[in-house]
Amino acid sequence: MDFELSKEQTMLQEMVRGFAEKEIKPYAREVDETGKMKYETFEKLGKLGLLGIPFPEKYGGAGGDTISYCIAVEEIGKACGGTGLSYAANTSLGASPIYYFGTEEQKQKWLVPMAKGETMGAFGLTEPNAGSDAGGTRTKAVLDGDEWVINGEKCWITNAEYSRQVIVTAVTGKRDDGRNIISAIIVPTDSPGITISSNYEKMGVRGSNTCQIVLDHVRVPRENLLGDEKKGFNQFLYTLDGGRISIAALSVGIAQAAYEKALQYAKERKQFGRSISNFQAIQFKLADMAMEIDLARNEVYKAAWLKDQGKPFGKESAFAKLFASEMGFRVCNQAIQIHGGSGYMREYDVERYLRDIKLMEIGEGTSEIQRLVIARHLGC
Ligand SMILES: Cc1cc2nc3c(=O)[nH]c(=O)nc-3n(C[C@H](O)[C@H](O)[C@H](O)COP(=O)(O)OP(=O)(O)OC[C@H]3O[C@@H](n4cnc5c(N)ncnc54)[C@H](O)[C@@H]3O)c2cc1C
Repeated sequence: MDFELSKEQTMLQEMVRGFAEKEIKPYAREVDETGKMKYETFEKLGKLGLLGIPFPEKYGGAGGDTISYCIAVEEIGKACGGTGLSYAANTSLGASPIYYFGTEEQKQKWLVPMAKGETMGAFGLTEPNAGSDAGGTRTKAVLDGDEWVINGEKCWITNAEYSRQVIVTAVTGKRDDGRNIISAIIVPTDSPGITISSNYEKMGVRGSNTCQIVLDHVRVPRENLLGDEKKGFNQFLYTLDGGRISIAALSVGIAQAAYEKALQYAKERKQFGRSISNFQAIQFKLADMAMEIDLARNEVYKAAWLKDQGKPFGKESAFAKLFASEMGFRVCNQAIQIHGGSGYMREYDVERYLRDIKLMEIGEGTSEIQRLVIARHLGC
């Protein structure tokens, strides 16, 4: 439903939809089977100006708003969940922290090439022993003269193999209360001592690049510190608040794809002498699917709008992410049910949608963590 989209937003939606239908959807099954990301797509997205939608033109971006960015995530995710994840992570996690917290010099050096699509970006927060509990980060960065020396390991980091730099979170000291200070540091991926590999066999979003990063005495210049050394924790909480809106938009895109397939199949499939769409049991499923997708999309737009207005949006981004991801799982599951045995077969795509959407309940804060975030906003 486009009831409040501006002319520019509607035009962008049509443009991205057309591109995704032609350039992304046709290979969605292939990247799922091979587990390999198609980098050429990102070069094309860069040329179209779609990798820098929410950044000002002076940083190589399109000067668009968050709603426009969410529209693009939804359309790309609808065509291919894995490509959608890489697209969202690139902008929300790889590029945005540099835009939010970087110095002018850092923006020129690292953000501009990303916004123009000359390289991708990644954000390495998760570690084998620090997932939901990011405070448990063990990667350490120690100043040695004018360089940070970084040791540690990051896991499941999206896009790292295709990025010129990864923003890495690391412990850089201790607070007065004994807790660790966590900072964010921009680490060039060609630094000596860094090893990036992608040997994970994933359940879904297989068209996205997911990496392990090992940092063994990696040295980077002191000026690669991103933002305030002591506020790294708050910085990534803010980054994740923004990222969650894009994961919600991606969930809406995948759910929309599943719903459209299910509606079409329900009209075509005949049992007991009539299309199964004549059965009220199937109609009710489709009615719930259409309604829930619309509600989730509205919450995505609301959270994005609040962010664009400079108003608090942390609660709404958690609402959007939690509702859209769980809604998306329900919708994809029902899309398989409507397809019956065919839905269990790869050639009908709906089983891929279910595998892809599951990640949305886990990445950028699990559903349980979203509920904790919401409860905190409620004053619990
Ligand atoms: C494909 C993929 C891509 C990813 N991309 C990135 C990336 O680009 N960058 C990055 O930094 N990370 C990335 N991640 C990591 C992702 O963000 C984490 O998997 C996620 O935050 C959860 O952490 P965990 O897997 O360690 O689970 P855990 O934290 O170990 O959680 C396990 C379970 O315990 C629950 N739980 C934990 N703590 C609590 C609590 N306090 N209360 C209630 N329940 C709790 C969780 O909700 C979950 O159900 C990616 C992961 C995947 C699978």
